[in-house]
Amino acid sequence: MSRSIRWRIGTPYILLIWVIMAVLGVYFTRLVQSIYLKDLENELISEVRLLRSILSAQFPADAQSDHLDQLAKDWAGELNKRVTIIAQDGTVLGESDFDRAQMDNHASRSEIIQASLSGIGIETRRSDTLGIPMMYVAASIRSTSGEIMGYVRIGMPTERIQNDLSLLQRTLIVVTILFSLTAGFLAIFIANRITHPIRQLAQAAAQMARGQLESRLIPTTQDEIGGLTIAFNEMAAELNAKIQALDAERGRIAAVLEVMSDGVLIIDEEGKVQLVNSAAESMFGVSHDEALGRSLIEVLRQHQITEVWEQCRRSGETQTTTVEISAHRLYLQCIATPLGPTLQGNTLLLFQNLTRLRRLETVRQDFISNISHELRTPLASLKALAETLQESAIDDPPAAKRFLQRMETELDALTQMVEELLELSRIESGRVPLKMSPTSPIRLISQAVERLALQAERARLEISIHCPNDLSPVLADERRLAQVIVNLLHNAIKFTPAGGRIELRAEHDGDHILFSVKDNGVGIPSEDLPRIFERFYKTDRARSSGGTGLGLAIARHLVEAHGGRIWVESLEGQGSTFSFSIPIAT
Ligand code: ADP
Repeated sequence: MSRSIRWRIGTPYILLIWVIMAVLGVYFTRLVQSIYLKDLENELISEVRLLRSILSAQFPADAQSDHLDQLAKDWAGELNKRVTIIAQDGTVLGESDFDRAQMDNHASRSEIIQASLSGIGIETRRSDTLGIPMMYVAASIRSTSGEIMGYVRIGMPTERIQNDLSLLQRTLIVVTILFSLTAGFLAIFIANRITHPIRQLAQAAAQMARGQLESRLIPTTQDEIGGLTIAFNEMAAELNAKIQALDAERGRIAAVLEVMSDGVLIIDEEGKVQLVNSAAESMFGVSHDEALGRSLIEVLRQHQITEVWEQCRRSGETQTTTVEISAHRLYLQCIATPLGPTLQGNTLLLFQNLTRLRRLETVRQDFISNISHELRTPLASLKALAETLQESAIDDPPAAKRFLQRMETELDALTQMVEELLELSRIESGRVPLKMSPTSPIRLISQAVERLALQAERARLEISIHCPNDLSPVLADERRLAQVIVNLLHNAIKFTPAGGRIELRAEHDGDHILFSVKDNGVGIPSEDLPRIFERFYKTDRARSSGGTGLGLAIARHLVEAHGGRIWVESLEGQGSTFSFSIPIAT
């Protein structure tokens, strides 16, 4: 507290006032004391002169008479002082406070000697008679011819004077203290008033330091502090506006960084991570909190990236590399760029996820190799049939007919494949307009069963339908969704040995209808399950089944175009269940 301005202003004032009051107190006590003593002396002198003038008529006096002794006693009563009347030779003629007969000669008393010389004698000393300190004033009584006839003396115990003086001193001390305290309080009050706006400013500044930039002060004075308050308010407003602008800017940058699909890292000169966005977090499986402030190698554990960063730092130029993060099956392009003068020594690492592109590239390559493979077999057999026909069979009409039938079958297969491919490509590119309308699930299932009933019968398979009558209609393109069920049912027929059973179901599943086609056929090996819906994908066992491997891909695209989902559960050797769900029409 003593360090506050209030006390720094107040304390010297209080001390100054106390010193001045102490000096003045001592000075005035002395002054009053001397005035009081002088007054007392003058009073005693006046009184002794008065007594002298009354007594001059009584002299020369009779030493044996008690008349003067009585007078001394009377006067002492009146004046409340000791009165002594002394003869010219020093014999005590009258004494107010003692028996004069027992008193010695007073001629040698200092005040008497002075009175004999100058008319008035003043002395303060211990009384030989009474044994207490007294102040004496004596006057000589002279005859008209100027001859000394005697003396009169008034004495007063100095104790009384001391008592009066100490009362006076005490009063002065009390007044001094009261005055000092009042002045002290006044000094504190004034210092308080002066420093009040400064304290408010300090409080507002502290609030601003805690981030409350809306704090404003109302200037209460017109002086320098008032000016300071206005300047402070302006500064706070300016600061607030700047910080808000910076916040908004930072928010925009943060939002861009967060929604970016590219991973971003900023690395400082020492290789410590200073910023990491959420795309980078998920790419490398690290959290923002554990990455910040740690070294690049510790966070990413990729030597290749650390090397690119070091090269970029050394050369001051942008460096690029591609890395494969096997743990997350990612294929990334890393671009390291120096951040220039604003963030001297810092490097921006940008990670572009090329996994999808790479997968697409693989899919494209697979597609070409698959399609060539699928085309090669029928084309090779067509070529063989044509050659045989050309060389010999043309002359043998029944054989030629057989050959032509086989050629037709091969051409049908080729045509079907091309049609399926075209269909798939149209669905994939979204060029198939779906004519959506509320469609009864049971109708969809019955249509499919009707179309394939003959095939199932030939394969000696039993088909059963489980579908409650009160099922809600689904929102679907009837022809296309029936095609999905046909594809699934067709597969079930193909991959279930004779005597097997196929169950078709439709049931409520929340706001969807769940369709399923279940068989107890050959089933699908678990390693093939994740890829079964890919184009041209066939299990090894199905290689010779004659299918194109496009049926499930078409089914998946159609279901997804209806806002649904398709999946499979299967155990090799025990059968498969293909299910898909379609939203109910509302
Ligand atoms: P395909 O024209 O060859 O039948 P699909 O896309 O319809 O093409 O099927 C892809 C592969 O999935 C099939 O070749 C087969 O290996 C497997 N598959 C599909 N349905 C079944 C099923 N019900 N039982 C066993 N395997 C099946």
